[in-house]
Amino acid sequence: MPDRLRNSTGSQSGLIFRGGPFAEPQLPRAVALPDAIAGLSKLYSITPPLTDPFQQILWDNIGYLIDDDRRAVLFEEFRVTIGFDPASILAARRASLLLIARKGGMNPETRVERWREIAAIVVRECKGDLAGHLRTLAPAKARTLLKRFPAIGNPGADKVLLFCGLDARPSVESNGLRVLVRLGLVPMAASYAKTYKSAAAAIGAFATRGREWLMTCHTLLREHGRVLCKRNNPRCIACPLDSICAHVPAKGL
Ligand code: SF4
Repeated sequence: MPDRLRNSTGSQSGLIFRGGPFAEPQLPRAVALPDAIAGLSKLYSITPPLTDPFQQILWDNIGYLIDDDRRAVLFEEFRVTIGFDPASILAARRASLLLIARKGGMNPETRVERWREIAAIVVRECKGDLAGHLRTLAPAKARTLLKRFPAIGNPGADKVLLFCGLDARPSVESNGLRVLVRLGLVPMAASYAKTYKSAAAAIGAFATRGREWLMTCHTLLREHGRVLCKRNNPRCIACPLDSICAHVPAKGL
């Protein structure tokens, strides 16, 4: 059984094998995604997700590189002072928007423009009702429309479609993607887009488990990537998946 050398925080720095240099190395047991998700479900609780597409897009754009707690505070301030409807955002004074944007990290002016752009797309192309308009579209067309919003690519569009009940499709964000690669469930490709595509296929193989399971999968993988399977120094010693994890390097994820 390979024993990974860990530093004080649990990251791997090499491999040694019990039984001397000629002992047969044993790979970790192959992990099945549903088993991994079941293991993670004992570790993390799930908070109810946002189910409105307009709010989800605003949430993703409310700050830059800030944690969820900070994001939640700003999101609530936005709700109280500006409101979550496109017309209110377009009518708001720029100074009021900038006041909130300045609390959310770098490039606040860009963020203000993005909020206005999000609102303008919804007013112009969805008669002010993004959720209602998306419901009239086939999933592929809805995905194309969602990708026109700032900071929404394929992963973001899939998340909106899944969590807003518009399509039961696989979705994973960057933290979850890192976990899937390290577990050995998804090959690391040359580009993020290709790795994401493989991940969507790997999760999609279990799509018959239904939308609730797909949402749970997204949420637990993200949480695990944020809490234990961090980008730097993953805490494998505390991880319930350590014995079945392939520990594949996920450089850049
Ligand atoms: S899934 Fe667990 S064991 Fe595997 S690299 Fe991440 S923290 Fe370590």
